Amino acid sequence: MGINNINQQVCGGCRTILLYPRGAANVYCAVCNVVTTVPPPASSVLCVMCHYY
Ligand SMILES: [Zn+2]
Repeated sequence: MGINNINQQVCGGCRTILLYPRGAANVYCAVCNVVTTVPPPASSVLCVMCHYY
């Protein structure tokens, strides 16, 4: 695990920038206690043939 495995997501509740490990389906905000669903990876990154990066 390194910095390249950390993504950012804006909290759906309080707009705080949340950090979460790549591959997580959702991220929990410790500020407002809202669980924000993480959007799927961009199709330009995810290979549509084999589903590997
Ligand atoms: Zn929040």
